[in-house]
Amino acid sequence: MIQRQIKGRFAPSPSGRMHLGNLFSALLAWLSARSAGGDLVLRVEDLDPDRCRAEYAAQLADDLRWLGLDWDEGYERGGERGPYLQSLRTGSYAEAFRRLEARGLVYPCYCTRAERLAASAPHRSDGQSLYPGKCRDLTETERRRLEAEGRRPAWRVRVPDEDWAFTDGHMGRCTRNLLRDCGDFIIRRSDGVYAYQLAVAADDAAMGVTQVVRGRDLLDSTPRQLYLYRLLGLTPPEFFHVPLLTAPDGRRLSKRERDLDMGALRRRFTPAELTGLLAHLAGLLDRPEPVAARELAPHFSWDKVPRTDIAVEAV
Ligand code: GLU
Ligand code: ZN
Repeated sequence: MIQRQIKGRFAPSPSGRMHLGNLFSALLAWLSARSAGGDLVLRVEDLDPDRCRAEYAAQLADDLRWLGLDWDEGYERGGERGPYLQSLRTGSYAEAFRRLEARGLVYPCYCTRAERLAASAPHRSDGQSLYPGKCRDLTETERRRLEAEGRRPAWRVRVPDEDWAFTDGHMGRCTRNLLRDCGDFIIRRSDGVYAYQLAVAADDAAMGVTQVVRGRDLLDSTPRQLYLYRLLGLTPPEFFHVPLLTAPDGRRLSKRERDLDMGALRRRFTPAELTGLLAHLAGLLDRPEPVAARELAPHFSWDKVPRTDIAVEAV
């Protein structure tokens, strides 16, 4: 069998400064690819114009470089599979959307946010709401009436009542029911912006990505993305979901923790100190001692990385 050359990626959203959790995923994505002699892509996921800013993209590229995490292709480097800003790739999302639409796999959903929240039961595993399928079977007349009221629809993919099993490279075997756990999901918002699920699957396939390393919070998105790969006839990458970093009380670290964002971290640590800290959290070093990312690569193994969330004591 011919082994495909490994290609990993970073796919950050430029919606703020990166924080410790983003760096943790980025370091593992880098190590996973580099330890196998693979390449890396940096793709900037700036689809949401309300949340994303160009300065943040420049900043996150600078922050990755500061930490010693380089990439072969992508933002600020270019490459054959560009552009590497999602905001410049809407033509390819529109094309994927049209292919799904032509096969009757999507439908317009006219629900307002308030209606969706009122109608849905809280979802069991990730606290997100599950779409109850209100607009699934609207007639043409009903659609026209809603359009006449001035409502602009979001577009959803219709999912079957099917158990979907996949093997995560780090978390192992996972099974989700597409209908009960995911529900019909949005691929184009009512303002015309293509949704993350569609864009990420289209891009990873178009860029030839063979492995996706990202936070466990996106594990529940994986069956949705795998379903899109199937519908679009694309080859999926392998997925590795990494544990989340939490505060000592179990809360997830987020961009709100200003003392753990890259601005603060770069003032307090050298790149080697911060890498050592992340490597220690990842189970790659016994103690948080200074180290360069490239020194970790030869010893990297997924077996050393914890599978449950990691509480970060005072940093
Ligand atoms: N852009 C997403 C984020 O920053 C990550 C997408 C992915 O890794 O699939 O949360
Ligand atoms: Zn609806």
